[in-house]
Amino acid sequence: MPKLAVLYDAGQAVLSTFDLDEVLQRILAIARDYFHLPNVAILLLDKETQQLCVRSQIGWDAGKDKICLGQHDGITGAAVLKKEPVYAADVSKDPRYICAAQSTCSELAIPLMVRDEVVGVLDCQSDRVDRFDHETIELLTLFSTHASIALQNAHLYSLERQRARQLEAINIIAQQSTAVMELEDLLVRVCSVIQHAFQVPHVSLFLRDEGDLVMRAHQGELTPCTPPGGRFPVTQYPWSRIIETSGTIIEKDLSSTPESLRLFKECASRMSIPLISFGQTLGVLTLHSAQTNAFRASELQSLESVADICATSIQNAHYVERVKQLAYLDGLTGIFNRRFFELRIMEEIERARRYKGGMAVIMADIDEFKRLNDEFGHLLGDEVLRQVSSLFHQQLRKIDVVCRYGGEEFAILLTQINTAQAISIAEKLRRMVEAHPFPGVPRTVTISAGVAVFPEHGKGRDELIRAADNGLYAAKQAGRNRVCLASLVRAAASGR
Ligand code: GH3
Ligand code: MG
Ligand code: MG
Repeated sequence: MPKLAVLYDAGQAVLSTFDLDEVLQRILAIARDYFHLPNVAILLLDKETQQLCVRSQIGWDAGKDKICLGQHDGITGAAVLKKEPVYAADVSKDPRYICAAQSTCSELAIPLMVRDEVVGVLDCQSDRVDRFDHETIELLTLFSTHASIALQNAHLYSLERQRARQLEAINIIAQQSTAVMELEDLLVRVCSVIQHAFQVPHVSLFLRDEGDLVMRAHQGELTPCTPPGGRFPVTQYPWSRIIETSGTIIEKDLSSTPESLRLFKECASRMSIPLISFGQTLGVLTLHSAQTNAFRASELQSLESVADICATSIQNAHYVERVKQLAYLDGLTGIFNRRFFELRIMEEIERARRYKGGMAVIMADIDEFKRLNDEFGHLLGDEVLRQVSSLFHQQLRKIDVVCRYGGEEFAILLTQINTAQAISIAEKLRRMVEAHPFPGVPRTVTISAGVAVFPEHGKGRDELIRAADNGLYAAKQAGRNRVCLASLVRAAASGR
């Protein structure tokens, strides 16, 4: 019996796959073949935009096959309003009719219901006037319940899949946060995990740095408008609002926003979620899409839990970074310690070797410091050590590394430099200390320094340090307050 056959086939179609589009296409094909309909379509109701959009169709005119109608427009809209089938026996006489295919003469719209809620419409059109008799309408209405079930199944399935993906993302990020990881690596990893789990075109992470938010990582398909590390004042919208309210912001349509504020060239909508740890907004996680209106409030909850975990991971990474830094800092002077120097010198030698850039080591030692301690006390000695460190720090370039090597001895790493420049820098430091009035010390304080240059005086760490030490020894031997180049033992300058 055809009546049973059509329902049976529709039931089978629903069970055949979880892929919604595939199920809907099968259902439409069954409707077309059994009822000999030229045009059938399933439109879904989008609650946020309040539109009824074609999700799947057979036989609609090209160009109309993707349209969205107002949720109460047309014959389909009437079915949404009434929550029951609406039939236009002759569309030419029905003012509600909106044309989808030139050949259409009659149209039947059946609401797709899940419980008592309309989720969409099954729309059947015929090229004959008054094509649908009472029995056909009844059968099609029964048939439409299969489409409703398919929709409900697909919805549950995609929710389930989404939840599984998101749980996995939460898990991965949580695992990363316990692994000892550089902050930079963590941020990139977090972006790509979120991009994958939430299937968004682009994800970026901003961290607060004083009055700015700095874009620290991003992953995806869109083209950035600013170079990496772009800074945005926290007083600028939307950051200002996110920080002020500690709440998420969805920007539905950025198509007319200036490119610089869109951050990514193709970005048409975005969702920004604050990263909050212990009540502090550490930064912002932003999801970007090239389509307007791409983000739903319904995704918020799982994204906010991801953001919470991110915030904790970032806090952890900050903490690890800080602990690491502390391990490399000298407690008295605040500059780097010998451990850090020994690590960095290896990196700098490697870099100089690879790129043929010059590098040099200065070993500087305060002259007759023991006597200074004896004369003015240990506490004042400490203060002199702090001030010498600070003088060195101020005088050197950002790329140079000043370390307290031990006691009153300092090791300085100079990069991208030649022998003459290295000697001149050492000499500048010597003059600075000599000229500096140290409070509480009614006499000049001086330093001696040895300079060794890669690769002339050594090709490895120990060799270079030993060479610089020899230079320092030579400077002491020659009467102190002077700079000597390693091995050549040439006095570069003398203050006395
Ligand atoms: P030279 O010119 O040959 O370098 O003589 P010097 O007295 O500076 O050298 P020496 O190695 O004989 O003495 C170093 C002194 O530095 C001994 C030590 O008490 C002092 N010293 C080392 N570390 C500290 C510190 O942290 N604080 C203070 N106040 N003194 C320190
Ligand atoms: Mg000394
Ligand atoms: Mg010494």
